[in-house]
Amino acid sequence: MKEQCRKSLEIAVQILDGQDVPHEERLTIEAHLDECAPCFERLGVERDVKNLIARLQGSTQCPDHLRSKITAIFHEGPPT
Ligand SMILES: [Zn+2]
Repeated sequence: MKEQCRKSLEIAVQILDGQDVPHEERLTIEAHLDECAPCFERLGVERDVKNLIARLQGSTQCPDHLRSKITAIFHEGPPT
């Protein structure tokens, strides 16, 4: 996993944990998900990424299954 990818996923988890992530960091991960297909896939199908983006923008709750999926990536690596 590239360093930038790990960093972006770390930020995603922080946001999903409800931590106070600076706005510029949110923009960074949004931009990264837009240009990095592997990260896009790691975070799940497009529907889930849209949920994450919505969460980044503070408009919806994070679905539990998405949160656990991201958490699993950190503990077990990307799904095969
Ligand atoms: Zn990436």
